Amino acid sequence: MKLKEVQNADIVVVGAGNAALCAALAAKDAGANPIVLETAPLSERGGNTFFVAGSTRWIFNSIEDVREVLDLSPEELRTVDFGTYTREDFFEDMGRLTQYRCDPDLTEILVDNARPTLVWMKTKGIKFEPMYKGQSQKIDGRVKFFGGQVCNFWGGGAELSPALFRAVEQAGIAVCYEATARSLVYEHGQVRGVVAESEGEKHEIRARAVVLACGGFESNAEMRARYLGPGYDLAKVRGTQYNNGAGIQMALDIGAMSAGHWSGAHAVGWDMNAPTFGDREVGDGFQKHSYPFSIMVNANGERFVDEGADFRNFTYAKYGHVVQRQPGMFAWQVFDQKVEYLLRDEYRIKQVTRVVADSIEELAAKLDGVNAKAFLDTVAAYNRAVQTHIPFSPVVKDGRGTTGLAIAKSNWANTIDTPPFQAYGVTCGLTFTFGGVKISKTGNVQNVGGRDIPGLYAAGEMVGGLFYFNYPSGSGLVSGAVFGRLAGTSAARYSRMA
Ligand SMILES: Cc1cc2nc3c(=O)[nH]c(=O)nc-3n(C[C@H](O)[C@H](O)[C@H](O)COP(=O)(O)OP(=O)(O)OC[C@H]3O[C@@H](n4cnc5c(N)ncnc54)[C@H](O)[C@@H]3O)c2cc1C
Repeated sequence: MKLKEVQNADIVVVGAGNAALCAALAAKDAGANPIVLETAPLSERGGNTFFVAGSTRWIFNSIEDVREVLDLSPEELRTVDFGTYTREDFFEDMGRLTQYRCDPDLTEILVDNARPTLVWMKTKGIKFEPMYKGQSQKIDGRVKFFGGQVCNFWGGGAELSPALFRAVEQAGIAVCYEATARSLVYEHGQVRGVVAESEGEKHEIRARAVVLACGGFESNAEMRARYLGPGYDLAKVRGTQYNNGAGIQMALDIGAMSAGHWSGAHAVGWDMNAPTFGDREVGDGFQKHSYPFSIMVNANGERFVDEGADFRNFTYAKYGHVVQRQPGMFAWQVFDQKVEYLLRDEYRIKQVTRVVADSIEELAAKLDGVNAKAFLDTVAAYNRAVQTHIPFSPVVKDGRGTTGLAIAKSNWANTIDTPPFQAYGVTCGLTFTFGGVKISKTGNVQNVGGRDIPGLYAAGEMVGGLFYFNYPSGSGLVSGAVFGRLAGTSAARYSRMA
């Protein structure tokens, strides 16, 4: 549908990622007639949601809880140990990782609504699968999950995003592409629509309520430098190029309260030769997440972080920043043959920056930009420090660390002595920004006085207050779905009264 053909709508939803489409579906369920405006062309639709691996996080106390989301075969029921992930676990992970800054109301909504929301998504045709890869290991004939995360959106973003669009189409909700929301229509203290632009023309779309779900500001180099700090203008962006902070700005322009960690973002180790923005063919393949089994070295040939501080789920979203702070903003992850079997699939893609060598000296010479002599000293000192008497196990925090190093490796330390040696070049890959607007428990955007702005709702990345410093893996999609559904339902309720 073309923007110029749009008449008035009950609800305008801005954006067409996971949060926005969940909001539109929920608004429709609640009896309203939403319309979706998306700035990207149809060929690039889906926002960051298209790029996701698809991991997701929710609480389960029993196998019955697991089966509410995952359809399991009798064989899986017999041979797989999913463990449990309790309400307390999810709260504790959110608290611990955000340094206890996460908004308690929003966190409670997320934790308590994650599973019911995924079950609701199933009714819209969204499929899930056990996340065997990267989250489980076979031990004594039984598959054991670790890290509290067992589930993936089936097929990742390349399947999830089209499935959401199919659900929206089946619900009879129109989506306008190349329709960029520019500002909110704000009259007599109420939001009454948006001004959007398409084909160089501005159109005012009047509505009873607006849901903003149009991402953070990760794609905007100027805002990255301004809020995340110097050098972040140069960081690579893992996903869409369309999340430029426009929705946040529109809300701030009418007096919305800013919230959350504006100088914070989700950032991972990402192939140093990846393009500026995400590649729809490669998806999240540029990430390099097996670093807990590596040592990481910088241009000085030195280690700079505890690679094994915790499970990957709890460190990967902040270690991109650590790499960003290194000289030249790059690092190499170094592995030897002993741990080759633990490398995730993304290490085997065609578009990878990798060097391989039969000796550690040969590898040193191949590490572009690295002080080779210092690197060899680092490896020698590290090898001496590994506590080899402690058994190695990738599925628990095994405590097999180092002793006496200035920067310890706390778990999963293995000597680097068995050829062939491999190293992978990474830089900082920005996923999404943490700062955004403040919402209430109904998904209403609040003003600087802490009161709801009538008619304005927000969801997804552009909500501030959930994530600070770090992030438990698999929380982005589910929080987008939970708060998208909430915003759509609340907007529909409000539109009946407005
Ligand atoms: C490579 C990668 C891997 C990831 N893997 C995972 C994972 O495995 N699990 C997980 O939980 N999370 C993951 N995430 C995070 C996840 O993508 C996000 O949390 C989630 O998809 C964000 O959804 P959203 O709807 O808020 O934003 P988006 O999906 O980005 O949607 C925002 C939409 O708004 C549109 N838009 C922007 N400005 C305007 C405007 N002015 N007018 C109209 N439209 C506009 C954009 O074009 C976009 O379509 C990953 C992210 C990336 C980039």
